[in-house]
Amino acid sequence: MITLLNDNFSQLNDFLHGKSFSKIFILVDENTHEYCLPVLLGNMETDLGFEILEIEAGEEMKNIQTVNQLWEILTEMQADRKALIINLGGGVITDMGGFVASTYKRGIQFINIPTTLLAMCDASIGGKTGIDLMNYKNMVGTFTFPEQIFIYPKFLETLPFKELRSGFAEMLKHGLIADKNHWENLIQINKLDVEGIIPHIQASINVKQYVVEKDFHEKNLRKTLNFGHTIGHAIESLFLNQGNPILHGEAVAMGMISEAHLAFLKGLLSEEDSRLIIENIQKYYPYLDISDFKDDDIFALLINDKKNTDQKINFSLLSRIGFCEFDHQCDHKNIIKTLKFYRK
Ligand code: NAD
Ligand code: ZN
Repeated sequence: MITLLNDNFSQLNDFLHGKSFSKIFILVDENTHEYCLPVLLGNMETDLGFEILEIEAGEEMKNIQTVNQLWEILTEMQADRKALIINLGGGVITDMGGFVASTYKRGIQFINIPTTLLAMCDASIGGKTGIDLMNYKNMVGTFTFPEQIFIYPKFLETLPFKELRSGFAEMLKHGLIADKNHWENLIQINKLDVEGIIPHIQASINVKQYVVEKDFHEKNLRKTLNFGHTIGHAIESLFLNQGNPILHGEAVAMGMISEAHLAFLKGLLSEEDSRLIIENIQKYYPYLDISDFKDDDIFALLINDKKNTDQKINFSLLSRIGFCEFDHQCDHKNIIKTLKFYRK
């Protein structure tokens, strides 16, 4: 269940009072410790003891070493099966905290309180937990739902602008794949800021929740959430390998532009819709200079994409604004043309 929290966090307190937990562990990173934890502790009412588990911020922490440390701390602090983990943070915290909770003692309860836009609209919902392995993202994980997800949009007030804009890409994606009205509302926002975005968070959550409910194990409809992510992930990895990481949403924005053009080349999307999509995404995101990356390097990553089957590159492509189809295989020729189009 997903709940928008009141300023006094009453729904969270009702939840805590209604259950018999033995102890609470609050997982934060250094930033959510500073900006979000005081708000949570100022409002949380519980007679239970709680401990704060803090990790350094960043994707580099989302690995088995950190998980191991967390498992050990839980053991040392005698967390039993009735302990509750509260994940207070962005997607790194909700993914990893969910993974720790779903594996420690074969699973203890956890709730997510996402603090980034990306986590509110995407990462904290949908029941995927996980960590990275070697250079591969989200290679190890579980499908486990939190007990509850509590959203407090005012946490966004301290979020750096680039992080906000990164999360906004997933909102645009939700509109494009399933809710034209949502997309049209979003592109009315001229200056991206928290005030402008907050009223649209619920619509974005609704899309993600609907899709996940229909297809939890990503056999069909859930694949549409990968729109923009096939080319986007490849570009994200190349920037990372170059030692010049970009944010996930920046890569997804580039991926959505490219894949809108690809859908047009394939004859699936009209030129008019493709142009509208590209122009509007460009309003918010600066051009990514991908001239350093060779087509072959991009292909090598596209071929390796987790979502592929039978050695074929699978795309989720739009047929209209608000409609997305999955498992589209595209010609090499069209992918090359698309990359050329973006480079221009
Ligand atoms: P993140 O958790 O690293 O947060 C981004 C930055 O913002 C961090 O530095 C963090 O400390 C800081 N921060 C968080 N909340 C803040 C606040 N309120 N004020 C100030 N600073 C704050 O990254 P993210 O973008 O939230 O999430 C990315 C992760 O989510 C990736 O690991 C990705 O794989 C994962 N993800 C998972 C799913 C899923 O379905 N499970 C979906 C999408 C993404
Ligand atoms: Zn994404």
